[in-house]
Amino acid sequence: MIPAAPSPLQPPRWQQLWREAVRDPRELLRLLGLPDLAARVGAEAAAQFPLRVPRGFVARMRPGDPADPLLRQVLPLDEELRPMPGFVADAVGDAAARAAPGVIRKYRGRALLIATGSCAVHCRYCFRRHFPYAEETAAADHWRAAVDCIAGDASIDEVILSGGDPWSLATSKLAELTAALARIPHLRRLRVHTRLPVVLPERVDDALLDWLAALPWPVTVVLHANHANEFDAPVDAALARLRAAGAVLLNQAVLLRGVNDSVEALAALSERAFAAGVLPYYLHQLDRVQGAAHFEVPDARARELHAALAARLSGYLVPKLVREVPGDPGKRPL
Ligand SMILES: *Cc1c(COP(=O)(O)O)cnc(C)c1O
Ligand code: SF4
Repeated sequence: MIPAAPSPLQPPRWQQLWREAVRDPRELLRLLGLPDLAARVGAEAAAQFPLRVPRGFVARMRPGDPADPLLRQVLPLDEELRPMPGFVADAVGDAAARAAPGVIRKYRGRALLIATGSCAVHCRYCFRRHFPYAEETAAADHWRAAVDCIAGDASIDEVILSGGDPWSLATSKLAELTAALARIPHLRRLRVHTRLPVVLPERVDDALLDWLAALPWPVTVVLHANHANEFDAPVDAALARLRAAGAVLLNQAVLLRGVNDSVEALAALSERAFAAGVLPYYLHQLDRVQGAAHFEVPDARARELHAALAARLSGYLVPKLVREVPGDPGKRPL
């Protein structure tokens, strides 16, 4: 029997999986056999920034382990509501660097585009968890203001699609944007900052790969994985297809207490990413955003971990340890 072809009216499979994400902390804890942890779940924290995690990512968590490094990244806890001096809503000075609706200009040659506010997963430590996405996405008005801003500044040779997660947009929407960007003669490179190939690898479907392969610039995809356990066979397959479509794959991670703050965890992350065809790029010191204080690793400890990593791994497997400081000309090495 020949299976019926998907009808053009049917949404792509990844959008279906996106909608089926776990959004109730009690359900997540039930799936993992951790009902006792419910007492530490912050209802108010979840109301401020709701839980969202695709079921395929939940499947990579260890059942029965309250300290699981993937669980810790997504579970809303009471601790997030404790006010901490120095932890603010706009930790990296995005508001001051806004060049047009949805365009952030901080560094020479590069324009970062807030393509959308949506993400398939909600990371508790996210530096844009308080970002005013409703007013600030470049997709508004068919990208016009954002594209005009980039077209009007010949010093910009690289556009970075960011968000939120830019690949949460429908592929047709992405194609609309890149068609407009392709008319700007001074662009030389395109970069995509996305966590989707890791948290929902089904997003890397034929339509996305066709779009990618047809782009007129070299493309770099900067992924975001913080722990080796975030990789599995479907992620490997998605990354192999991205590479086959011509993308250069890099990874940025955030140094997070209780997730990857050991030499073993960081070395395993670099090695696992490389096995999947991904080079480590940045290891970020946490941005001091409200609600994320319990993830912070002190600078002295961060330096010590980084030195130990450099003493252990091939040079190209050691990410640059950096922090974002508002006003700096680039990420600041620690
Ligand atoms: C991090 C960042 C970039 C990219 O910096 P690279 O060091 O080139 O990776 C560009 N624009 C903004 C606003 C950023 O925050
Ligand atoms: S995927 Fe990135 S932008 Fe989205 S919640 Fe996580 S850290 Fe924030």
